[in-house]
Amino acid sequence: KSLRDLLLGNVRSVPNFPKPGIIFKDITPLLQDRYLLELTSRLLAEPFRGAKIDFVAGLESRGFLFGTNLAQDLHAGFVPIRKPGKLPASTHSIEYELEYGTDSLEVHTDSIQSGDNVLIHDDLMATGGTSAAASNLIRKMGGNIIGYSFVMEISALGGRRFLDQNLPVHSLLKV
Ligand code: 5GP
Repeated sequence: KSLRDLLLGNVRSVPNFPKPGIIFKDITPLLQDRYLLELTSRLLAEPFRGAKIDFVAGLESRGFLFGTNLAQDLHAGFVPIRKPGKLPASTHSIEYELEYGTDSLEVHTDSIQSGDNVLIHDDLMATGGTSAAASNLIRKMGGNIIGYSFVMEISALGGRRFLDQNLPVHSLLKV
């Protein structure tokens, strides 16, 4: 059995969650297994070893799960990027388009500073809208994005086209 099959076998497809017609990719089995938690964390860090990274920015909320391990492994700090109203202190925010309506992301103003090198991490990239919005938010703060890291990428949705074409995009699993 290949490594890819092993990891994919521990991502659960849940039909009709959170809405009818959606097949949700659930990464909790990868977190639950003591060996796969460590293995997945390490494999996420691999492509970015040696890069100068000040912060891993994890996207709400499943980007926090492997994101903190990733930050620790890369000797970087961790910064949560959250949905509105969740972060307690002073924040910067950015609005972005959804299929229907808009949403926004927030980050503490005292986190990323001008010139800091930031790796963006989330559990899954679908349309790329969330990662693109996070990129704009970090750039607004003067942060320098050095790449993107995902546990899983839904390739058919072409989310990469919304990310900087010159930056590395690492997805552990492409489906
Ligand atoms: P995008 O903005 O790329 O369309 O959607 C990505 C965001 O939605 C990520 O924050 C991700 O956590 C969440 N998301 C969308 N679909 C799924 C899914 O099937 N599984 C998981 N785990 N997250 C999803």
